[in-house]
Amino acid sequence: MRVYNFSAGPANMPLPVLEKAQKDLAEYGSAGMSVMEMSHRSAAFKEIITQAEATLRSLLHVPDNYKILFLQGGASLQFSMVPLNLHKNGKADFINTGAWSKKAIKESKKVLDVKVLASSEDQTFSYIPKVDASSIRQDADFLHITYNNTIYGTKFHQLPEAGNVPIVSDMSSYILSEPIDVSKFGIIYAGAQKNIGPAGVTVVIIREDLIGGADEDCPTMLDYAIHAEKDSMYNTPPTFAIYMAGLGFQWLKDLGGVEAIQKVNVEKAAILYDYLDESQLFKGTVVKEDRSLMNVPFVTGNEELDAAFIKEAKAAGLENLKGHRSVGGMRASIYNAMPIEGVKKLVAFMKEFEAKNK
Ligand SMILES: *Cc1c(COP(=O)(O)O)cnc(C)c1O
Repeated sequence: MRVYNFSAGPANMPLPVLEKAQKDLAEYGSAGMSVMEMSHRSAAFKEIITQAEATLRSLLHVPDNYKILFLQGGASLQFSMVPLNLHKNGKADFINTGAWSKKAIKESKKVLDVKVLASSEDQTFSYIPKVDASSIRQDADFLHITYNNTIYGTKFHQLPEAGNVPIVSDMSSYILSEPIDVSKFGIIYAGAQKNIGPAGVTVVIIREDLIGGADEDCPTMLDYAIHAEKDSMYNTPPTFAIYMAGLGFQWLKDLGGVEAIQKVNVEKAAILYDYLDESQLFKGTVVKEDRSLMNVPFVTGNEELDAAFIKEAKAAGLENLKGHRSVGGMRASIYNAMPIEGVKKLVAFMKEFEAKNK
């Protein structure tokens, strides 16, 4: 029996996507073989990757002067690729909203002069810090933000006014959950395993003028220009993960796209946050105005009760609700693929648990 899986990542995927993949697993169309077994240079795979890119482009209304790349190495490799490619002036500015920002900062520091403009570390990253626009160095090569912090459950509701400094955004746990204006960003990157598909592929959306800045001695595989020139086929791409991502994009498009899923995501999050706001037992850990739609951390304030909740929830078919060790308590990740019924069932279970543990 499939459970409601609230994992932060790898996360649940839409059942219709899994079923479609299952149907075509041993033989894809009339190809006589599975997607896993076909050459990445074959016409059949070329069609798969081209279609995946086109669907993603239409979902996010990606302007023509942006390239979409399907890379490997996870969002974590982007922490390194970004500074190796965007470093003309040797400077980068960051907003630190938690563990993922810190990892990105650490990699940039190896090659650039890094300035952290603002941080919410003083309150366990439970809010998005305000940034004084005048503190952004106008000669910085980029300004990096973690758009939605998966661990702490925060989300930027407003972009910093960066002027001509390209904003580089880690959207691993945010991409495709709401409409975005891609033209406001220099680079958007996202590991697939949260809101796109299985682990193994990373989506990079990059403005064309930011391609080509890597040094001669930059490892070939870390150079955006190579991947852009070769349409993500410099070497063997993660073919099956790209195929699955393509099915996921199509699933979303058939539902009405990002605009339609946003409505559902807002509704899902409201069910959970409204209850957290009225509960006497559970409370959300993030300030209201910076709450994420995708990752919802909450606590009872009592570790034993938290542990009992997680255990009993699992027995009720609500899995992976344990919070990240740095926040404790619980976290419900409610990405696009989480049906609204899953959130309703979670809240019903929380109410029951609260009544029992008053
Ligand atoms: C999961 C996650 C990462 C790490 O992704 P990998 O694909 O495992 O490298 C980075 N940033 C954010 C915001 C994430 O949620």
